[in-house]
Amino acid sequence: MVIPRSRSVSERSVLPVVSPTVNFPVMKSVFFSRFFILLPWVLIVIIMIDVDTKRTSRTPAVARAGRTQHQRTARPGAPAGVNRSFIYAITPTYTRPVQKAELTRLTNAFRQVPSFHWIVVEDSTTRTEMVARFLARSGVPYTHLNVFTPRRFKRTGMPRATEQRNAALAWLRQHRTRRDAGVVFFADDDNTYSLELFEEMRGTKAVSVWPVGFVGGRAYERPIVTGGKVVGWYTGWRPDRPFATDMAGFAVNLQVILGNPRAQFKRRGSQPGMQESDFLKQITNVSDLEPKASNCTRVLVWHTRTEKPHMGNEPKFRKDTVVIEV
Ligand code: UDP
Ligand code: MN
Repeated sequence: MVIPRSRSVSERSVLPVVSPTVNFPVMKSVFFSRFFILLPWVLIVIIMIDVDTKRTSRTPAVARAGRTQHQRTARPGAPAGVNRSFIYAITPTYTRPVQKAELTRLTNAFRQVPSFHWIVVEDSTTRTEMVARFLARSGVPYTHLNVFTPRRFKRTGMPRATEQRNAALAWLRQHRTRRDAGVVFFADDDNTYSLELFEEMRGTKAVSVWPVGFVGGRAYERPIVTGGKVVGWYTGWRPDRPFATDMAGFAVNLQVILGNPRAQFKRRGSQPGMQESDFLKQITNVSDLEPKASNCTRVLVWHTRTEKPHMGNEPKFRKDTVVIEV
């Protein structure tokens, strides 16, 4: 086999071209021209992926990833560039036969509200599996918390869900800042909510109010409005309350909650039915209230209360062949 000792002339003439020292600037310019052609496409893909992740962060699949689903930047349903206020609905809830039915009714409304975050606080020593599973599949962005009401407070005449609402306020103060636009609303699980209510409350600057159906011993309770200002209350129960409204009858701007870090629901010194008034006294005056729902002439939320089901024929020991969650 003949091993060539030297390269042919034609080969030699090619050599300098493939030599790295001579060719480097050529490769560099090729690389940069390709890079600048591809750059806009890469940016488009990045923007599309970003938009897509924001959209999917509302889906149950993401909710399943953890008990808390934060939604700081996503503004689902809002046109690009519109910094729509988030609605933070605080729902205390406790284990009982109708709990899942109540939460289902709420979910069917809340799922349709854009820019919405549900803070569900279980009155329980743990976050129960039933509620955790329910929320994960609800399609509503949520935070799942729990705090157990001490037994000594679980008596008739005692205010309910004080610790749960305060836990939600503490969560907001910890996880939201001055830059977050939002409105806080107390959404008990035994009410019925019109979708219109959420658009009414969304523009709340400090504290807004509106009528509530089936409370105060009447068909409805409402703030009386004259010249765009609240001047009194139409109610069938304790009209001497400074704020004669139900928990479902007002909303508070998130910045008012953050700006009054000590404002909370009280047990000490609070008379039955005075929770709302005692809370609102800490953050506003009657003359500053913002009337919503056509100057407080429309009922958009009802204290429906689900009847306790009759289960006298429920067997002591399971008779059915399967275990079914109700
Ligand atoms: N709640 C609670 N623990 C209780 C009783 C009630 O967390 O021991 C919740 C309940 O699910 C509801 C809110 O607190 O969201 C208000 O309770 P309820 O409607 O029974 O009170 P009422 O309307 O009679 O004042
Ligand atoms: Mn109630």
